[in-house]
Amino acid sequence: METPLIDPFARPISYLRVSVTDRCDFRCVYCMSENMSFLPKKELLTLEELDRMCSTFVRLGVEKLRITGGEPLVRRDIMKFFYSMTRHLDAGTLKELTLTTNGSQLERFAEDLYAAGVRRVNVSLDTLDEQKFADVTRWGRLPQVLRGIDAAQRAGLRVKINAVALKGFNEDELFSITDWCADRDIDLTWIEVMPMGDIGNEDRIGQYWKLDDLRADLAQRYTITDLPESTGGPARYVRLEETGQKIGFITPLTHNFCESCNRVRLTCTGELFMCLGQEDNADLRAPLRNHPGTDAPLEEAIRAAIARKPKGHDFDYSRQTVDGRVSRHMSHTGG
Ligand code: SAM
Ligand code: SF4
Repeated sequence: METPLIDPFARPISYLRVSVTDRCDFRCVYCMSENMSFLPKKELLTLEELDRMCSTFVRLGVEKLRITGGEPLVRRDIMKFFYSMTRHLDAGTLKELTLTTNGSQLERFAEDLYAAGVRRVNVSLDTLDEQKFADVTRWGRLPQVLRGIDAAQRAGLRVKINAVALKGFNEDELFSITDWCADRDIDLTWIEVMPMGDIGNEDRIGQYWKLDDLRADLAQRYTITDLPESTGGPARYVRLEETGQKIGFITPLTHNFCESCNRVRLTCTGELFMCLGQEDNADLRAPLRNHPGTDAPLEEAIRAAIARKPKGHDFDYSRQTVDGRVSRHMSHTGG
């Protein structure tokens, strides 16, 4: 048994989020510009490299893998990768394999995902109005995503909806989205919008909707009870007493969750970000690619990176950004 990954602040690193592509079949206004340029293919980790990378993390104690992007399900042959992770689930070393998706390809892949051992999926969905959906995703079509969600539930996957809170956009759907999720036994988490990357301000839809305000709006109709559970991440949960529904709030900019942080993020090019709010990262692709026969240099690079994991991001984005923006794209780091 290898020594597990523990950072300098005694936090065990048990959760890895992996972006498997920077590409996407949508162009959500808060995430990408319409004419995004994507990375050349040779920059991306191959599926075999992703396997070696994730397997090394699992060997070092990572128990939960979340696959994200870009849109993970548009990566060619991505199901091969999911199936290659099944062996770690079977061995019991990996406890959970999951993904965050825009849902566009779920109809096609839901059953395969279940067969590979995935039990939960997060589907991003900000509105239930077809026109608004087309506006906010630019290229997305709502019925396709709804079919994907149905297929996921049919396949036995537990679905959670992630909705980005946008004032003047989905504010008026707070109750209809809540009800829709309750009817389908789907969990719901609201995400506060973050200023990321160069996304072309000209077509900004909606504005910052503080989740404290959203919660106050919810309280007009429901009795809200705070739930103590923590996932080691930026989400906090409440229960709506009238429906029994669990609602999550992700407020990366305004709430401190660093003490219990158990996670690191791997980009599709193999850079490891130890903290979402800081630019410091470690190149893991070179030790992986340059040593096809052994994982020892990769393991050493991972340990060295974890030893640099900062205590917290202090929410002082001004030091790392121009105009208060985090310069990298969410689709590169993985949201
Ligand atoms: N394409 C997949 C999807 O949309 O679920 C996975 C990648 S996406 C970058 C992951 C999550 O990040 C989505 O829930 C999306 O809504 C969220 N996201 C993207 N840009 C954001 C921003 N500027 N602020 C807050 N959340 C954002
Ligand atoms: Fe694509 Fe997800 Fe970004 Fe939307 S949020 S553009 S679906 S990566």
